[in-house]
Amino acid sequence: MNMFIKAAVIGVLATGMSHAEGVTDEMLAGDTASTSDVLTNGMGRHLQRYSPLDILNKDNIDGLVPAWAFSLGGEKQRGQETQPLIHDGIMYITGSYSRMYALDVKTGREVWQYDARLPEGILPCCDVVNRGAAIYGDKVYFGTLDARIVALDAKTGDVVWRKKIEDYKAGYSYTAAPMVVNGLVITGNSGGEFGIVGEVQARDAETGELVWTRPTIEGYYGTYKGEQSTMSGTLNETWPGDMWKTGGASTWLGGSYDIETDTLVFGTSNPAPWNSWLRAAGNPEGKEGDNLFAASRIGINPENGDIKWHFQTTPREGWDYDGVNEMVAYTSRSGEKRWATADRNGFFYVLNREDGGFVRGVPFVKDMTWASGLDENGRPIFVEDNRPGDPAASADGKKGDVIFASPSFLGGKNWMPMAFSQKTGNFYVPSNEWGMDIWNEPITYKKGAAYLGAGFTIKPNYDDHIGTLKAIDPDTGDIKWEVKNEAPLWSGVMTTAGGLVFYGTPEGEFIALDDESGEKLWSFQTGSGIVGQPVTWEQDGEQYVTVISGWGGAVPLWGGEVAKKVSYLNQGGTLWTFRLPRQLASNN
Ligand code: CA
Ligand code: CA
Repeated sequence: MNMFIKAAVIGVLATGMSHAEGVTDEMLAGDTASTSDVLTNGMGRHLQRYSPLDILNKDNIDGLVPAWAFSLGGEKQRGQETQPLIHDGIMYITGSYSRMYALDVKTGREVWQYDARLPEGILPCCDVVNRGAAIYGDKVYFGTLDARIVALDAKTGDVVWRKKIEDYKAGYSYTAAPMVVNGLVITGNSGGEFGIVGEVQARDAETGELVWTRPTIEGYYGTYKGEQSTMSGTLNETWPGDMWKTGGASTWLGGSYDIETDTLVFGTSNPAPWNSWLRAAGNPEGKEGDNLFAASRIGINPENGDIKWHFQTTPREGWDYDGVNEMVAYTSRSGEKRWATADRNGFFYVLNREDGGFVRGVPFVKDMTWASGLDENGRPIFVEDNRPGDPAASADGKKGDVIFASPSFLGGKNWMPMAFSQKTGNFYVPSNEWGMDIWNEPITYKKGAAYLGAGFTIKPNYDDHIGTLKAIDPDTGDIKWEVKNEAPLWSGVMTTAGGLVFYGTPEGEFIALDDESGEKLWSFQTGSGIVGQPVTWEQDGEQYVTVISGWGGAVPLWGGEVAKKVSYLNQGGTLWTFRLPRQLASNN
């Protein structure tokens, strides 16, 4: 055996301990910098959605043209919210109704397709969407609407393992992209409208066996390697009686990971039920009625699932202001380690990355009604009159006072991810200006039934627009510019070192803006509404951009008057890939 071969064999043996082939932890950690692949949801587990590529830029964007398109096929044309992954010549996308596809990244030809066999009686609250996959080793992972997680062979699409996250008959489902950290596949759950219990789970990526669980309601215990571990919070500190047992706080949008502080962050949905008066009293010695850890961000130790810190955006939440929106780890212009998030409740928050401590928060939508600001700890200063009235105080006990609240329960920003630009230091936030009539009603928990105790109608706040893409300076909270859109924005955003901000509209346009001015530089009509998440990568020296088109998601189902206003929009299911031809790539 010559020296070269011997060294190669030793190398294989050394790495063969875990994953001899495929995607490694180092590759996941370096995803943003490696421009020829896209290995993680968020284009980096910090979720910045920033590409250092500048082959495509403000000067040559006119030359960006379609390279290929792919139809998801079938009759299952519902909201397409996936973010593609790209590795080793293959693009992995997920589709509505828990489907997954592997495509040849150069041609768009299908390599394999996996259709989950979903049981009757699944209970997805807000369309049959899926937001993407995770890749690690030789496997790809995605969650299905019946609250399962599936590991597929990345080359063949064959099922390697398939595990139950929770019982779909109780209202659990799963739509987020999983995340891989140190060989663990990390998932949340959906179902905050059904009185489920939010949880984060970590599994061995090879076998699917549970390593730890972390419930997101105070009073529940986590598990670690099959044994009971620590309690989440302190029993009954912020919940009255047994209300915590069906307290919601689902972790439905998945998480982010900051490698520098070794912290996972998951956000949690509304507490259940929506009627906040039923959760109002708690331990007077503690934070009465705050209902931890609902409507919060939770910092978690990825090794054992223990809670490191929490930040609650909406205590005693009563407007369905889920706190799930993504936390983006970034470094400020002056070098401070920060998190930022744009909450459903209409505030944009900057937190300390080490301990989740509050740094600043500002409204990013106009016309906020429910709070007049934030105190020095980031706790909202409530407008008490804007809390939906207590049904028990009404004449017949059946309906509390109706109030008009803004933003609506679909949020100043919903799930659609914002982007951070390392070039400008700004965030680019897809937001919506809308409000709602909302009232409370009596409700009791019943397994598998909606557990709201509320009624509502969403309304536009302005005649000419609902959506607005905003450039926000996180150091000051200033909105540098905004671009309005008639329909509500529901797509992800991406930034590039080429000075471009990409996003899509429900009207079907895929758009590139100037990151400094907001000027529209390029657009392409994709044929259906865009509620997916763009990515970009480099192949053979050329830059490519991909986005999926296919209208749907929560707006048509729950949007009230807004849903009627946009009912003309056509459904679809097509992935578009664009390319800047080499001869057009010179920077003048
Ligand atoms: Ca990469
Ligand atoms: Ca909710």
